[in-house]
This record gives sequence, C-alpha cells and structure tokens, in this order.
Amino acid sequence: MEEILAPDAEPSRSGLTVSTALPLPDHPPAPQMRAPRPPAPRRAAFPRGPVARAFQRRFFPAASAEDWSDWRWQMRARIRSLAELERVFALSADERAAVARHTGGLPVGITPYYASTMGLDDPSEPLRRTHIPVGAEYLRTPGEADDPLGEDHDSAAPGLVHRYPDRVLFLTTGTCSTYCRYCTRSRMVGQAGGEYQLSTRQWEQALAYIAAHPGIRDVLLSGGDPLTLSDEKLDYLLGRLRAIPHVEFIRIGTKVPTVLPMRITRELTRVLKKHHPLWMSIHVTHPHELTPEASEAYGRLADAGIPLGSQTVLLKGINDDVEVMKTLYHGLLKRRVKPYYLYQCDPITGSAHFRTPVARGLEIIEGLRGHTTGYAVPHYVIDAPGGGGKIPLLPDYVAGRDGDDLIVRNFEGGLYRYPDPGESFGADRGAGPC
Ligand code: SF4
Repeated sequence: MEEILAPDAEPSRSGLTVSTALPLPDHPPAPQMRAPRPPAPRRAAFPRGPVARAFQRRFFPAASAEDWSDWRWQMRARIRSLAELERVFALSADERAAVARHTGGLPVGITPYYASTMGLDDPSEPLRRTHIPVGAEYLRTPGEADDPLGEDHDSAAPGLVHRYPDRVLFLTTGTCSTYCRYCTRSRMVGQAGGEYQLSTRQWEQALAYIAAHPGIRDVLLSGGDPLTLSDEKLDYLLGRLRAIPHVEFIRIGTKVPTVLPMRITRELTRVLKKHHPLWMSIHVTHPHELTPEASEAYGRLADAGIPLGSQTVLLKGINDDVEVMKTLYHGLLKRRVKPYYLYQCDPITGSAHFRTPVARGLEIIEGLRGHTTGYAVPHYVIDAPGGGGKIPLLPDYVAGRDGDDLIVRNFEGGLYRYPDPGESFGADRGAGPC
C-alpha cells in the first residue's frame, strides 16, 4: 500500500516509563527535603480475561502480557496456516482438507485473542465455524455470486460505492484482523497485491469524488476493516472527510472491537473523538464474543462519545436461535451497543451452509418483539442481490380488516381492533360533539 504517513505510534511494548538520567547530588539530601516521588505506575495493559490468559500460557508461552495486549503483536501472531491451526485446534478431517486445498482470496486469519474465544476441540462450536473453512465452502449453489450486491457495478472511484443519492460506502483497505468465511467481500479482502489493494492514491480519488458531489452527506468507512489502519492514517482520512463541508455524517463499520479489542487504545479513542459526529457499527455474531476484553473495548468507544450499533449476520446453526439472539442483544445493550441490523446472509459463493430460510429470521424477530426491550430488537434486512439496497423484513402483525377497523395481532397472538377509517372520519360519518 502506498503510504501517506509514518506507521502507527503505539505505546511502548514494555509499558515501562524510562526516566531521564539526572546528575546525582554530591551530598545526601537534607532531612527536611521531600521524599523522592515513587516511580510512575506502569501503563495499564489492556485487561486480559481468565480465558485469554490460560490460552496464552498454553499456546503462546513466549509472549509477554504486554505482547498479548499489543494489537500489532496480535496481528503479527495471527493463526494463518494449516500447521498453526493444528497447533491450536483439534481439526476435523473436513476442516483439515478444506484448509489444505485453500488458495486465492479470503485467507484464513484468526487473532490469538479471538482464537481464545473458540472451541478448540469442537468443530461445531459457533465462532470456530465462522472462521475455519469446511468443504461446503467450495460448493457453488444456484443464486450465489462473488459480488452478490453488485458493489463493483456501483463503483464511482476505486473503493467507493455510490448507490444511494446522499451516501457512499468508502472501502478503505482490503485488510481485516480476522477473516469470516461468510464475508460479503470475500472477493476483495486479504489478497496480497490483488485488484482491491486499496492505496492512499486511490483514497485521494475517492476523496476528490466526494468533494465534487455536494449531495453526499453520509460516508460509511468500511473495507476490509478500517480499524486495522494506523491511528495516523485514520486521523488523516477522517480529517480530510471532515474538511468537506457537505459531509455531515461519518460512520465506521468494523469487527475489530470484537475480534481485536486491544486495538481500542486510549490513543485511538483520542483520534476518533477529534472527528465527531462519528458513529460506529460493530460486527458481532454470538454471545461468546462478549468477553471482558470486548466489554472494555466497547466501553472505551462509548466513553469517547461514539454512538455504537451492532450488525450481525444470521448464520445457520451458529446464531439462528431466539435465546442465543436474546442473550446477545441483552449483552450488547448492557455494554451500550444498540442492536442495529440483523442481516440475512448474502448469497456469496460457497455460503449455502451458512444461510437459513428467511422464515427463521422472521421467527427470531417475532420471538424478540414484545418479549423484550424494544431497543434489543434489530432491523432484520435482506441486502437485495444486484444492488437493490437493504429491504426490511417484518413478521406480519396485521391480521386483516373488519369495516373501518384494522385487526392487529400482538406479540402473544391476541387480536385487537384499531379504528382505521382512512381519511373520512368525524362529523361526516355521524360523529356527534363531545
Ligand atoms: S471482518 Fe468484515 S470485511 Fe473482514 S472478513 Fe469479516 S465480514 Fe469480511
């Protein structure tokens, strides 16, 4: 990638503060002098939960606590090859064969932290299924496509999708910290030297396009994952967007707070705070992800004044269950993240084993609406294949009509009448004075 700025300046790996050498006094301090200050406390490392700590000791014993808490170390230490997977996971024959035959896009990549949340001995464990390939990934079924949403067709500049009049999708990078097997952008993410290696020169083209189109008021930064960029690059990009007068609203779509929570450093939140109003959509899948580390990351972002929403892909046998979703959404609300979108899985090539019938998603929404806090109910949508945009899906709560009454159904199945005479009501329909 063409560089704009120097690499990210992260805190010292050791976390130790090195004091400046001062000349020693040539006589002892007088008794009335103040006692020397105690050494500055070590910079608090990103908290590590007990599960991650045990995992680190077992599989990365040479790493220090500071290494583990350093997002760049996590990126470097990602589990990427068959040998690395076999060192950590008891692979099934299906997984082993699928990884062995993998070539091309959507590589395997799992941060050690995220691996610590997965079932090491159980191929059916939900999070593991989202990241370790299986043979079904190589099956192409009817209706599937490499770019089902037609993003390349709506591309206005390299990495810039302009589909709706007032907003654009800005693909900032092809890099993610982990690679989800159901990724809508599997055609572009994680490929070294491929067509989608978005460079800073391409950023400039995208920025020029946005600046030249006054109707664009909303920019969604996505990728890949924008939070894999350095603080300096993010600061630069957000600053350039903020300098465009008609850009009112900037959003970041990211999975990093969930899979690489130590990336949410104090330095990063200081950068993000400079560019308000800034919103964030966090990719989450399952309650197993709501660890102490993820809670810390979400909390830091919320404390920085960033409104947080979640986006979740409905996945067969992974999270297609009312109780699983309720637990996830309650957990998110407790962590100040509003459940925002539940996506029907896009028909990306090789995704049939992840896709549920739409009826299952409707059952889940029906099992939430009225049964729990309204804030815990996301919008369930299909991103229409071919570029039709998000289309909401709702259970049918209108049971019919009886004359001027609409018959509506509540969450318990009870039927109720609502007077709905249309535009003609009042005196012309015989209503008397109060
Ligand atoms: S983090 Fe997002 S862009 Fe990256 S692989 Fe997962 S779904 Fe795709």
